[in-house]
Amino acid sequence: MCTIKARLDKVLTRIRQAEIQFERAPNSVKLLAVSKTKPLSEIQAAINCGQLEFGENYLQDALSKIKALNHNKVKWHFIGHVQSNKARQVAENFSWVHTVDSIKLARRLSRFVADGKPALNVCIQINISNEKNKSGCNIESALELAQEIEKLENLNLRGLMAIPMPETDFAAQRSVFRDLNSIYQDFKAKGIKLDTLSIGMSADLEAAIAEGATIVRVGTDIFGPRS
Ligand SMILES: *Cc1c(COP(=O)(O)O)cnc(C)c1O
Repeated sequence: MCTIKARLDKVLTRIRQAEIQFERAPNSVKLLAVSKTKPLSEIQAAINCGQLEFGENYLQDALSKIKALNHNKVKWHFIGHVQSNKARQVAENFSWVHTVDSIKLARRLSRFVADGKPALNVCIQINISNEKNKSGCNIESALELAQEIEKLENLNLRGLMAIPMPETDFAAQRSVFRDLNSIYQDFKAKGIKLDTLSIGMSADLEAAIAEGATIVRVGTDIFGPRS
């Protein structure tokens, strides 16, 4: 518990310092705590420190934690690959999906948002490093996907997300994020309403904040290494 509080404070300090260093507005970057594979007790410890947004990748594991916690102030973000046949459970149990990469998936998610429920917040995952066999939409088809998602009533298109190939060099990290940020700015200039750039993890959150991140997704530096 103390460990999580100390780590969480440290990550929040890094975020606030990067906002200052890179001339971002104060508190313009939100921390998503990535709790995948971590037990309920550690999520509870983070909640006790005031952290209320969590990211999960593995649906079954996430669903059992969401049920067990049953906390109405906590928001769950799905950040893993969504299998088509799991779209319903994702739409029913999460507030956000960061990994929409096809119109087919977007339509399925929209269809499963229950009547009277708020729209599901979504980001388009872009395969920014153009890696083969990696999930994410190609850069070339992303604009069309964004325009199609905007037409879906039960989805609220919020922004773009990417998981670049790991780089240790700050300039190299920043350069990939800059590419994504320019796509983001270009989409906004073309009239797509977006307010979210979901980039940056434990090892590269400063570079992401330098390039416009509004959500950083941090697991290891809060909860420790995953086995
Ligand atoms: C696991 C994961 C993270 C967190 O990564 P860390 O390096 O542990 O901070 C962020 N985003 C996605 C999509 C992940 O799968």
